[in-house]
Amino acid sequence: MTDYDYDLFVIGAGSGGVRAARVAAAHGAKVAIAEEYRVGGTCVIRGCVPKKLLVYGAHFAEDLKDARRFGWNVPAQCDFSWSTLRGNVMEEVDRINGAYTQTLTSHHVEIIAARATVAGPHEVALADNRTVTAKTILVAVGAHPSIPTFPGHEHGITSNEAFHLPDVPKRILIAGAGYIANEFAGLFHQFGAHVIIVNRTQEILRGYDVSIRDRLLQISIMKGLEFRFDAAFQKIERGDNNCLTVHMSNHEPAVVDCVMFATGRSPNTRGLGLETAGAELDQHGAIVVDADNRSTCESLYAVGDVTNRVQLTPVAIREGQAFADTLYGGKPTRVDYDCIPSAVFSHPPLAGVGLTEAQAKEKLGSVRVYTSDFRPMKNVLAGRNERSLYKMVCDGETGRVVGLHMIGPDVPEILQAAAIAVKAGLTKDQFDDVVALHPTMAEELVLMK
Ligand code: NDP
Repeated sequence: MTDYDYDLFVIGAGSGGVRAARVAAAHGAKVAIAEEYRVGGTCVIRGCVPKKLLVYGAHFAEDLKDARRFGWNVPAQCDFSWSTLRGNVMEEVDRINGAYTQTLTSHHVEIIAARATVAGPHEVALADNRTVTAKTILVAVGAHPSIPTFPGHEHGITSNEAFHLPDVPKRILIAGAGYIANEFAGLFHQFGAHVIIVNRTQEILRGYDVSIRDRLLQISIMKGLEFRFDAAFQKIERGDNNCLTVHMSNHEPAVVDCVMFATGRSPNTRGLGLETAGAELDQHGAIVVDADNRSTCESLYAVGDVTNRVQLTPVAIREGQAFADTLYGGKPTRVDYDCIPSAVFSHPPLAGVGLTEAQAKEKLGSVRVYTSDFRPMKNVLAGRNERSLYKMVCDGETGRVVGLHMIGPDVPEILQAAAIAVKAGLTKDQFDDVVALHPTMAEELVLMK
């Protein structure tokens, strides 16, 4: 018997929280989950899912052009309806939101549709002035877009609002050059917008292998995207005609219809009452946790973006699963953060796993790099001058593949499978032992020179 209202109270019904709540309940715990907005969290409601559907929608712009070279009679003028796509995407979001809610209720998890804050090591305050108690509290409240503050920054939107725009802007300036910036730049460009990417440094996608991001930059410029580097925002002014004039250092002002900030995400810890439980935060406001997701308060745990470890949905899900299995399933589990594959759904997409060439050189000293730089068959017939690049980074001593980095059509799909081999520690020779599956793009993985 427990003296608490719940064995587990989860704050935040995103990817990590929902997984933890469902699995803990399946293991027999009495669980409640509070969500102030919609069950599903960033990934389902305003992140990975709707973004990927927009990326699919955007791809038709090129596919329809290419189709002519494959004999299809596509009219010169193909109309695109943003409102149709936006509506259909939101319907799909509603469906998944329903499925997530159903999963929780079918596992007897009590859903509390209200903001909840921590009121003590075992206490949670709800927006309706109730306070409930729990033996364990799990904080899985995610992160929010962080926006640099400068005069006029309030005229900008973030990706949260981009899904609900009334129309595709004719000209959009995207601040930042990371994941969200490159994904939305690609899709807005395909929908016909003129896109300007503005970054504070000279790089895009810091952290990815330099050859791969250089290739994306080249292809993006070739497609007509505009990049401005080493730019610090000074001010944004709204003109009479609703246009926005963005002033920045080192560049002429840019006049656009929309500014979107994609300048990183910060943990949602402000006002959450974590200090009442003695849970420590780091300098970015993230909850400090140990390898078992436990904070500096013994009864309070945290998973997902609020801990600012690896801001990726599948990582949050694994953390939620490990938390629930460890505490309620009698199966102590820790997440292995080594070799996490990731992808950017830009046009074309890129994906990577393991060490970049630079990281491998620093860590291992002796490194061998193999590449395949090719024009996919489909692009050749389509007359599309876009080359793919696959890069394999190997330990110079053992031949073990320590990194794989790719840009080109479908590379996220290809890399997920190849990441299994990289994680398993296979060598270049073992890759080469496999007969090529011809004709595919993925066959390059076993033919690299
Ligand atoms: P990223 O960290 O990927 O990129 C942030 C960009 O903004 C960088 O170019 C950075 O510059 C710049 N920047 C950061 N702070 C400032 C500032 N104060 N002023 C001006 N520029 C700044 O963040 P995103 O917002 O694109 O995405 C957030 C997270 O969401 C990602 O880290 C990723 O984990 C996740 N995500 C994952 C996706 C996927 O898996 N496909 C898709 C979308 C998001 P620089 O680095 O050059 O210094």
